Amino acid sequence: MTFLRYDFLLRMLRASGYSINHVENVTDVGHLTSDADEGEDKLEKGARREGITAWEVAKRYTEEFIVGMQTLHIIPPTHLTKATDHIAEQIDLVRRLEGKGYTYRISDGIYFDTSKFKTYGHLARLDLKKLQAGARVEFNPEKRNHSDFALWKFSPENTHRDMEWESPWGRGFPGWHIECSAMAMKYLGDTIDIHAGGIDHIPVHHTNEIAQSEAASGKPFARYWLHANHLLSQGQKIAKSAGNGYTLADIAAHSFSPLDLRMLALQSHYRTQADFNWSNLAAAHSRLASLQAMADLRWQLPDTAVSPIDLNLSAQVILGELQNDLGTPQALARLSEIETQLEKTPPAQTQRQEFITFLQFLDELLGLELSIRSDITPAQKELIGKRAEARAQKDFAKADELRKLLTDQKIGVQDTNNGAIWYRL
Ligand SMILES: [Zn+2]
Repeated sequence: MTFLRYDFLLRMLRASGYSINHVENVTDVGHLTSDADEGEDKLEKGARREGITAWEVAKRYTEEFIVGMQTLHIIPPTHLTKATDHIAEQIDLVRRLEGKGYTYRISDGIYFDTSKFKTYGHLARLDLKKLQAGARVEFNPEKRNHSDFALWKFSPENTHRDMEWESPWGRGFPGWHIECSAMAMKYLGDTIDIHAGGIDHIPVHHTNEIAQSEAASGKPFARYWLHANHLLSQGQKIAKSAGNGYTLADIAAHSFSPLDLRMLALQSHYRTQADFNWSNLAAAHSRLASLQAMADLRWQLPDTAVSPIDLNLSAQVILGELQNDLGTPQALARLSEIETQLEKTPPAQTQRQEFITFLQFLDELLGLELSIRSDITPAQKELIGKRAEARAQKDFAKADELRKLLTDQKIGVQDTNNGAIWYRL
């Protein structure tokens, strides 16, 4: 859901004339199960469970992730960077922080001293005194401050992890946060325009990214932060234990298309919680179907009755809603208004190109594939024509019979002032 929501950001920026350098990282280094740099390594744990190495686990899920993104027609990033391909950059960044006096060494690794970074926690408006006082659980007594975090963790003595590297401080692996700073700075420079992510990362992960990056470069790390709110499932937080998480395969097994899911993502604003359940997805499906029926008007434009609607202006209005803090529900509401008007007065033959351009623009912006839909077959058109004749001759039994034939071919017919309009069932 988060990736879909940010796909609309990318599409909006592109449609607004920006060129995009978009970096997305694959966290393929195993990290620890808690934010507090304690606990088990999820990747190494998963590898043991599946009887394969951490490298194989990372490869498998990275591939699955990429296929999923393709399935959802999410625009691929300019750079898809793996943490394991950037260990040298991460070590280099830790050395820079060390050179500036921000780090210290304890028995299990190299840590960032958050008390030395004056604006630590500003993004999350953290109350550090309270944090320190409340720090009883999971507090490593060797750490100087509760909020200090690992930049480099040592491999435990006498054990070999699947993933570990040599470093100036000893064999081990990078802390979770450092990969983002190292890769962002490599591909985007010291200051990036927009950093997007999930709302759950504000208090620890993004806070630490800012601290490391700004401590090293002395420059602001990100000009804008966008935080997507949680996706719930049946009103509950998605959790493995609750069994309420779904995959794209589950969606397909319920006969929904990836476009239905895209529509569901459009229906809520990225800063609000979205709820996934099958009836919401069904509602998204029918809303999409009605937009598809609008798009299919392009194959049945009347010769007369020029629609008064200015489609170029309508496209700009929809773009404007997205430019206003990514107002996807507002953009959809505008689109519904346009749809209603077009149903009443469809564009005329003379407006065909304008209409196609409008559909193409919508696709660039929303990715709903409205402009690439095909016409029905000549045989199906003939059935529609014969049905109209039967109706004109008041032979309603024959008309119903012909409608049934069309229904069997998943074509619906609606009789309007402009004659019969077909749509796909
Ligand atoms: Zn990150």
